[in-house]
Amino acid sequence: MRAHGRAEARPDELPAKGCVCCRGDRQVARIFEAVTDFPGSGGIMCDAREVLLQRLWDSFRCPVCHERLPSKQGSSELLCRSCGTDFPVLTGGVPLLLVPAQRARFERILNEEPAAKRMVAEYRSHGTWRKRIRDFLKPPSIVYDENAARKYSWIYDAAGAETMVLSIGGGPGRENPRVINLNVDAFDSVDIVGDGANLPLIDESVDTVTCNAVIEHVRNPLDLISEMHRILKPGGYAQLMVPFVFPFHAYPCDFQRYTTSGILELTSRFEKVELCVLTGPTSALLVLLREYLRLLIPGGNRPFLKTVLNGLSGWISFPFKYLDRWLNRKPEAAHLAAAFYYLGRKPR
Ligand SMILES: [Zn+2]
Repeated sequence: MRAHGRAEARPDELPAKGCVCCRGDRQVARIFEAVTDFPGSGGIMCDAREVLLQRLWDSFRCPVCHERLPSKQGSSELLCRSCGTDFPVLTGGVPLLLVPAQRARFERILNEEPAAKRMVAEYRSHGTWRKRIRDFLKPPSIVYDENAARKYSWIYDAAGAETMVLSIGGGPGRENPRVINLNVDAFDSVDIVGDGANLPLIDESVDTVTCNAVIEHVRNPLDLISEMHRILKPGGYAQLMVPFVFPFHAYPCDFQRYTTSGILELTSRFEKVELCVLTGPTSALLVLLREYLRLLIPGGNRPFLKTVLNGLSGWISFPFKYLDRWLNRKPEAAHLAAAFYYLGRKPR
Protein backbone atom coordinates (compact mmCIF):
# COMPACT_ATOMS: atom_id res chain seq x y z
CA MET A 1 0.00 0.00 0.00
CA ARG A 2 1.19 3.46 -0.82
CA ALA A 3 0.44 6.37 1.46
CA HIS A 4 1.29 10.03 0.90
CA GLY A 5 3.60 9.16 -1.95
CA ARG A 6 5.88 6.94 0.11
CA ALA A 7 5.71 3.20 0.48
CA GLU A 8 5.25 2.00 4.01
CA ALA A 9 8.48 0.54 5.26
CA ARG A 10 9.25 -3.09 5.75
CA PRO A 11 11.51 -3.66 8.76
CA ASP A 12 14.44 -4.57 6.49
CA GLU A 13 14.06 -1.25 4.65
CA LEU A 14 14.42 0.88 7.73
CA PRO A 15 17.57 2.99 7.80
CA ALA A 16 20.53 1.86 9.84
CA LYS A 17 20.92 3.68 13.13
CA GLY A 18 23.19 6.62 12.61
CA CYS A 19 23.42 10.23 11.61
CA VAL A 20 20.48 11.70 9.78
CA CYS A 21 21.30 15.37 10.16
CA CYS A 22 24.27 15.50 7.79
CA ARG A 23 22.12 14.70 4.77
CA GLY A 24 20.81 18.24 5.03
CA ASP A 25 23.12 20.13 7.32
CA ARG A 26 23.07 23.25 5.23
CA GLN A 27 19.42 23.59 4.49
CA VAL A 28 17.53 26.51 3.12
CA ALA A 29 14.39 27.87 4.70
CA ARG A 30 12.02 29.43 2.22
CA ILE A 31 9.89 32.06 3.88
CA PHE A 32 7.54 33.49 1.32
CA GLU A 33 10.14 34.58 -1.22
CA ALA A 34 12.84 35.45 1.24
CA VAL A 35 15.62 32.93 1.57
CA THR A 36 17.47 32.45 4.81
CA ASP A 37 20.54 30.26 5.18
CA PHE A 38 21.37 28.78 8.51
CA PRO A 39 24.90 27.64 9.22
CA GLY A 40 25.70 23.99 8.77
CA SER A 41 26.17 21.85 11.81
CA GLY A 42 29.13 19.68 10.91
CA GLY A 43 29.58 16.24 12.41
CA ILE A 44 29.39 17.47 15.99
CA MET A 45 25.58 17.63 15.77
CA CYS A 46 25.22 13.96 14.79
CA ASP A 47 25.14 12.53 18.31
CA ALA A 48 22.88 15.34 19.49
CA ARG A 49 20.50 14.58 16.63
CA GLU A 50 20.37 10.94 17.67
CA VAL A 51 19.46 11.95 21.24
CA LEU A 52 16.86 14.34 19.86
CA LEU A 53 15.20 11.63 17.73
CA GLN A 54 15.15 9.25 20.68
CA ARG A 55 13.42 11.94 22.76
CA LEU A 56 10.95 12.49 19.94
CA TRP A 57 10.03 8.80 19.73
CA ASP A 58 9.55 8.73 23.51
CA SER A 59 7.12 11.66 23.23
CA PHE A 60 4.52 10.36 20.77
CA ARG A 61 0.85 10.27 21.70
CA CYS A 62 -2.04 8.74 19.82
CA PRO A 63 -3.87 11.38 17.73
CA VAL A 64 -7.12 9.39 18.11
CA CYS A 65 -7.42 8.81 21.89
CA HIS A 66 -4.54 11.07 23.06
CA GLU A 67 -2.96 8.32 25.18
CA ARG A 68 0.82 7.94 25.12
CA LEU A 69 2.08 5.66 22.34
CA PRO A 70 4.45 2.91 23.43
CA SER A 71 6.95 3.48 20.65
CA LYS A 72 10.40 2.23 19.85
CA GLN A 73 12.59 4.08 17.38
CA GLY A 74 13.03 1.89 14.30
CA SER A 75 9.66 0.12 14.66
CA SER A 76 7.77 -0.56 11.43
CA GLU A 77 4.44 0.41 12.99
CA LEU A 78 3.04 2.08 16.10
CA LEU A 79 0.08 0.38 17.77
CA CYS A 80 -1.98 2.30 20.33
CA ARG A 81 -2.72 -0.08 23.21
CA SER A 82 -5.57 2.14 24.38
CA CYS A 83 -7.76 2.46 21.26
CA GLY A 84 -6.14 -0.18 19.05
CA THR A 85 -5.33 2.18 16.16
CA ASP A 86 -2.33 1.08 14.11
CA PHE A 87 -0.11 3.82 12.69
CA PRO A 88 2.31 2.96 9.86
CA VAL A 89 5.94 4.02 9.72
CA LEU A 90 6.96 5.14 6.23
CA THR A 91 10.24 4.49 4.43
CA GLY A 92 12.95 6.49 6.16
CA GLY A 93 11.42 5.84 9.59
CA VAL A 94 8.79 8.58 9.34
CA PRO A 95 5.70 7.77 11.47
CA LEU A 96 2.33 8.64 9.95
CA LEU A 97 0.41 9.87 13.01
CA LEU A 98 -2.91 11.07 11.64
CA VAL A 99 -6.50 10.29 12.61
CA PRO A 100 -7.74 8.03 9.74
CA ALA A 101 -10.41 10.54 8.62
CA GLN A 102 -7.87 13.37 8.57
CA ARG A 103 -5.40 11.17 6.68
CA ALA A 104 -8.06 10.53 4.04
CA ARG A 105 -8.81 14.27 3.83
CA PHE A 106 -5.16 15.24 3.32
CA GLU A 107 -4.68 12.47 0.73
CA ARG A 108 -7.74 13.65 -1.21
CA ILE A 109 -6.56 17.28 -1.19
CA LEU A 110 -2.97 16.45 -2.17
CA ASN A 111 -3.98 14.00 -4.90
CA GLU A 112 -6.95 15.86 -6.40
CA GLU A 113 -6.84 19.63 -5.92
CA PRO A 114 -4.85 21.45 -8.63
CA ALA A 115 -3.14 23.95 -6.29
CA ALA A 116 -2.17 21.19 -3.89
CA LYS A 117 -0.78 19.08 -6.74
CA ARG A 118 1.39 22.03 -7.81
CA MET A 119 2.62 22.36 -4.22
CA VAL A 120 3.50 18.66 -4.07
CA ALA A 121 5.37 18.89 -7.39
CA GLU A 122 7.29 21.94 -6.13
CA TYR A 123 8.18 20.28 -2.82
CA ARG A 124 9.27 17.04 -4.54
CA SER A 125 11.59 19.02 -6.83
CA HIS A 126 13.40 20.39 -3.76
CA GLY A 127 17.15 19.89 -4.05
CA THR A 128 17.07 18.67 -7.67
CA TRP A 129 19.45 20.16 -10.26
CA ARG A 130 16.51 21.37 -12.35
CA LYS A 131 15.15 23.31 -9.36
CA ARG A 132 18.58 24.72 -8.55
CA ILE A 133 19.06 25.95 -12.12
CA ARG A 134 15.58 27.53 -12.14
CA ASP A 135 16.30 29.25 -8.82
CA PHE A 136 19.66 30.48 -10.17
CA LEU A 137 17.98 32.04 -13.21
CA LYS A 138 15.25 33.74 -11.19
CA PRO A 139 15.37 37.53 -10.76
CA PRO A 140 16.19 38.84 -7.29
CA SER A 141 13.35 38.56 -4.79
CA ILE A 142 10.90 41.48 -4.81
CA VAL A 143 10.33 40.99 -1.07
CA TYR A 144 12.60 42.75 1.43
CA ASP A 145 13.01 40.47 4.44
CA GLU A 146 13.76 41.96 7.86
CA ASN A 147 15.34 38.58 8.68
CA ALA A 148 13.82 38.35 12.14
CA ALA A 149 14.41 34.59 11.96
CA ARG A 150 18.16 35.20 12.07
CA LYS A 151 17.85 37.85 14.80
CA TYR A 152 15.99 35.37 17.02
CA SER A 153 17.91 32.26 15.93
CA TRP A 154 18.90 31.77 19.59
CA ILE A 155 15.49 30.11 20.11
CA TYR A 156 17.06 27.03 18.44
CA ASP A 157 19.45 26.85 21.41
CA ALA A 158 16.99 28.04 24.06
CA ALA A 159 17.45 24.86 26.15
CA GLY A 160 21.11 24.28 25.30
CA ALA A 161 22.58 21.49 23.18
CA GLU A 162 19.50 19.27 23.54
CA THR A 163 16.92 21.86 22.50
CA MET A 164 14.07 20.20 20.63
CA VAL A 165 12.42 22.47 18.07
CA LEU A 166 9.19 21.41 16.39
CA SER A 167 8.54 23.06 13.03
CA ILE A 168 4.84 22.76 12.18
CA GLY A 169 4.59 22.68 8.40
CA GLY A 170 8.37 22.22 8.21
CA GLY A 171 10.04 20.70 5.17
CA PRO A 172 11.21 20.23 2.53
CA GLY A 173 14.62 21.17 3.89
CA ARG A 174 15.59 21.67 7.52
CA GLU A 175 16.26 25.09 9.04
CA ASN A 176 18.54 23.75 11.75
CA PRO A 177 19.69 20.25 12.85
CA ARG A 178 17.69 20.65 16.08
CA VAL A 179 14.44 20.97 14.12
CA ILE A 180 11.86 18.20 13.94
CA ASN A 181 9.71 18.78 10.86
CA LEU A 182 6.02 17.94 10.95
CA ASN A 183 3.99 18.11 7.75
CA VAL A 184 0.91 16.60 6.12
CA ASP A 185 3.02 14.48 3.75
CA ALA A 186 6.43 12.83 3.85
CA PHE A 187 8.30 15.51 1.93
CA ASP A 188 12.10 15.72 2.06
CA SER A 189 13.37 16.14 5.66
CA VAL A 190 9.94 15.58 7.23
CA ASP A 191 10.23 13.64 10.52
CA ILE A 192 6.53 13.19 11.38
CA VAL A 193 3.47 13.14 9.13
CA GLY A 194 0.83 14.75 11.35
CA ASP A 195 -1.77 17.47 11.80
CA GLY A 196 -0.76 20.78 13.40
CA ALA A 197 -4.21 21.11 14.96
CA ASN A 198 -3.92 17.67 16.64
CA LEU A 199 -0.23 17.22 17.38
CA PRO A 200 0.84 13.61 18.09
CA LEU A 201 3.11 14.68 20.98
CA ILE A 202 2.58 14.56 24.74
CA ASP A 203 2.15 17.73 26.83
CA GLU A 204 5.23 19.86 27.57
CA SER A 205 7.60 17.80 25.42
CA VAL A 206 9.10 20.51 23.17
CA ASP A 207 11.45 23.43 23.97
CA THR A 208 10.64 25.65 20.96
CA VAL A 209 7.91 25.51 18.34
CA THR A 210 7.90 27.35 15.01
CA CYS A 211 5.06 27.82 12.54
CA ASN A 212 6.34 29.84 9.61
CA ALA A 213 3.89 30.88 6.87
CA VAL A 214 1.55 28.05 7.84
CA ILE A 215 -1.28 29.46 9.94
CA GLU A 216 -3.10 30.91 6.91
CA HIS A 217 -3.31 27.38 5.49
CA VAL A 218 -5.10 25.68 8.40
CA ARG A 219 -8.86 25.42 8.88
CA ASN A 220 -8.87 26.20 12.59
CA PRO A 221 -5.93 28.38 13.69
CA LEU A 222 -7.15 28.50 17.31
CA ASP A 223 -6.73 24.72 17.58
CA LEU A 224 -3.22 24.98 16.14
CA ILE A 225 -2.16 27.72 18.58
CA SER A 226 -3.70 25.76 21.46
CA GLU A 227 -1.67 22.69 20.44
CA MET A 228 1.52 24.76 20.21
CA HIS A 229 0.87 25.92 23.77
CA ARG A 230 0.12 22.40 25.03
CA ILE A 231 3.29 20.70 23.72
CA LEU A 232 5.62 23.52 24.80
CA LYS A 233 7.45 23.24 28.10
CA PRO A 234 6.81 26.16 30.48
CA GLY A 235 9.18 28.93 29.45
CA GLY A 236 9.40 27.55 25.89
CA TYR A 237 9.24 29.78 22.83
CA ALA A 238 6.66 29.93 20.01
CA GLN A 239 7.54 31.59 16.70
CA LEU A 240 5.02 32.55 14.01
CA MET A 241 5.40 34.15 10.60
CA VAL A 242 2.02 35.33 9.41
CA PRO A 243 0.98 37.02 6.12
CA PHE A 244 -1.28 40.08 6.08
CA VAL A 245 -1.39 41.95 2.71
CA PHE A 246 -0.45 39.02 0.52
CA PRO A 247 -2.19 37.33 -2.44
CA PHE A 248 -4.05 34.04 -2.25
CA HIS A 249 -1.61 31.10 -2.24
CA ALA A 250 -2.93 27.58 -1.66
CA TYR A 251 -0.29 25.45 0.08
CA PRO A 252 -2.36 23.27 -0.14
CA CYS A 253 -5.29 25.53 0.98
CA ASP A 254 -5.52 29.21 1.95
CA PHE A 255 -8.11 30.33 4.53
CA GLN A 256 -7.20 33.63 6.27
CA ARG A 257 -4.94 36.66 6.97
CA TYR A 258 -4.08 38.39 10.27
CA THR A 259 -3.56 41.95 11.49
CA THR A 260 -1.27 42.61 14.49
CA SER A 261 -4.39 42.79 16.69
CA GLY A 262 -5.52 39.44 15.32
CA ILE A 263 -2.14 37.86 16.09
CA LEU A 264 -2.20 39.20 19.67
CA GLU A 265 -5.73 37.86 20.15
CA LEU A 266 -4.74 34.48 18.74
CA THR A 267 -1.65 34.22 20.96
CA SER A 268 -3.14 35.66 24.15
CA ARG A 269 -2.01 32.67 26.26
CA PHE A 270 1.64 33.47 25.49
CA GLU A 271 3.82 36.27 26.82
CA LYS A 272 4.77 38.43 23.84
CA VAL A 273 8.51 38.77 23.23
CA GLU A 274 8.31 40.38 19.77
CA LEU A 275 5.72 41.38 17.20
CA CYS A 276 7.13 43.25 14.21
CA VAL A 277 6.91 43.68 10.46
CA LEU A 278 8.68 40.83 8.69
CA THR A 279 8.08 41.98 5.11
CA GLY A 280 6.77 45.50 4.62
CA PRO A 281 4.40 47.67 2.57
CA THR A 282 6.55 48.02 -0.57
CA SER A 283 7.05 44.27 -0.70
CA ALA A 284 3.27 43.87 -0.41
CA LEU A 285 2.66 46.35 -3.26
CA LEU A 286 5.23 44.73 -5.55
CA VAL A 287 3.81 41.25 -4.99
CA LEU A 288 0.25 42.54 -5.58
CA LEU A 289 1.37 44.40 -8.72
CA ARG A 290 2.96 41.26 -10.13
CA GLU A 291 -0.24 39.31 -9.51
CA TYR A 292 -2.30 42.16 -11.00
CA LEU A 293 -0.21 42.20 -14.20
CA ARG A 294 -0.71 38.48 -14.65
CA LEU A 295 -4.44 39.02 -14.23
CA LEU A 296 -4.53 42.01 -16.61
CA ILE A 297 -2.59 40.43 -19.47
CA PRO A 298 -4.51 37.69 -21.33
CA GLY A 299 -2.97 34.30 -20.58
CA GLY A 300 -0.77 35.84 -17.89
CA ASN A 301 -1.22 32.88 -15.57
CA ARG A 302 -0.30 30.23 -18.17
CA PRO A 303 3.07 28.67 -17.30
CA PHE A 304 5.28 30.23 -20.02
CA LEU A 305 3.85 33.77 -19.90
CA LYS A 306 3.75 33.60 -16.08
CA THR A 307 7.48 32.85 -15.99
CA VAL A 308 8.21 35.69 -18.45
CA LEU A 309 6.05 38.22 -16.56
CA ASN A 310 7.51 37.19 -13.19
CA GLY A 311 11.03 37.56 -14.60
CA LEU A 312 10.40 40.96 -16.23
CA SER A 313 8.50 42.45 -13.28
CA GLY A 314 11.09 41.04 -10.89
CA TRP A 315 14.09 42.62 -12.64
CA ILE A 316 12.30 45.97 -13.06
CA SER A 317 10.76 46.26 -9.61
CA PHE A 318 13.15 44.59 -7.16
CA PRO A 319 15.21 47.75 -6.34
CA PHE A 320 12.05 49.39 -4.93
CA LYS A 321 11.84 46.77 -2.17
CA TYR A 322 14.68 48.54 -0.34
CA LEU A 323 12.22 51.37 0.47
CA ASP A 324 11.01 48.97 3.16
CA ARG A 325 14.30 49.38 5.06
CA TRP A 326 12.99 52.86 5.84
CA LEU A 327 9.22 52.30 5.82
CA ASN A 328 9.30 49.30 8.15
CA ARG A 329 10.51 51.59 10.94
CA LYS A 330 7.22 53.53 10.87
CA PRO A 331 4.42 52.23 13.14
CA GLU A 332 1.94 52.62 10.27
CA ALA A 333 3.88 50.06 8.21
CA ALA A 334 1.82 47.46 10.10
CA HIS A 335 -1.29 48.74 8.30
CA LEU A 336 0.04 47.56 4.93
CA ALA A 337 2.73 45.00 5.72
CA ALA A 338 3.03 41.83 3.66
CA ALA A 339 3.79 39.70 6.75
CA PHE A 340 4.50 39.81 10.49
CA TYR A 341 6.95 38.06 12.79
CA TYR A 342 5.74 36.99 16.25
CA LEU A 343 7.74 35.46 19.10
CA GLY A 344 6.01 34.47 22.33
CA ARG A 345 6.87 32.58 25.48
CA LYS A 346 4.74 30.09 27.40
CA PRO A 347 4.46 31.39 30.99
CA ARG A 348 6.29 29.35 33.63
ZN1 LIG B 1 -5.25 5.58 20.70
